[in-house]
Amino acid sequence: MQVIREQAALSHLISDLKGRQKSIGFVPTMGALHDGHLDLVKRSAMENDVTVISIFVNPTQFNNPEDLKKYPRNIDKDLEMVQKLAQVAFVPSVDVVYPDGAVSKHYDLGDLETTMEGEFRPGHFQGVATVVHRFFDLVRPDKAYFGEKDFQQLLVIRKLRSLMNIPTEIIGHPIVRAKNGLALSSRNARLEPKQLQEAVEIYDTMQWCRENWRNHSPGELKKKALDRLEAGSLQPEYVEICDGNDLKIIENWEGSDSARICVAAYSANVRLIDNLSLF
Ligand code: AMP
Repeated sequence: MQVIREQAALSHLISDLKGRQKSIGFVPTMGALHDGHLDLVKRSAMENDVTVISIFVNPTQFNNPEDLKKYPRNIDKDLEMVQKLAQVAFVPSVDVVYPDGAVSKHYDLGDLETTMEGEFRPGHFQGVATVVHRFFDLVRPDKAYFGEKDFQQLLVIRKLRSLMNIPTEIIGHPIVRAKNGLALSSRNARLEPKQLQEAVEIYDTMQWCRENWRNHSPGELKKKALDRLEAGSLQPEYVEICDGNDLKIIENWEGSDSARICVAAYSANVRLIDNLSLF
């Protein structure tokens, strides 16, 4: 695996690959890799000639400076984990990604920007769209892989693709979970063993909703989920029952062909998100 840090070296390599008609799969990450990331890399490796993983903690998508500071970083271990799976690791500095300064561009993301993560993390998705757009320009991937763990982000990237006429195919990949159901996340590294146990309350609550949604209206179901979480160890920030196609809040089940429960909750000062398809 080649580790590339500079734009010129990456552009040179990508031009060479394009010239030789090699297909390029791209997996953008912020590092602190776990089996969820590796699943994306393995899938890309199966579906493309060459897989590029980027490891970059993007400052413009953090609305909370403390969260950025505490974000887990372990680049040596990360590179070791993908050594045999990817052909290229792009590990740029902030200056390489943002030569004119680390600020977000503005994209018309519509309602995706004002609901759920958009509401509670102002500016987050402009930062995500900015960095992904920049990486797409540099890597020019045929396919790019994003986890459903960040379901709203996946829809933002699809929106970015259509706004900017990006030729890359966007592939959503299912959530990889621990045995007990907890979604793997880089942020889990910040949880004490007891907190790790408690964090499964998010998955348990969502599962309960999947089993019981028929007996409740969407509004009641949301209330039940919030009550369950509040009775446990976590501090829920939001629970929403929304349409899996556009994330619009579902008012009643009739007319919906896809529903998803989305949750954000804190364990102490660590913010966790997860989601599950109800039908
Ligand atoms: P991150 O490093 O958190 O920015 O994540 C990089 C990519 O990995 C994103 O597309 C995430 O949605 C995806 N990802 C993170 N955790 C998981 C997981 N548990 N299962 C599947 N994909 C994941």
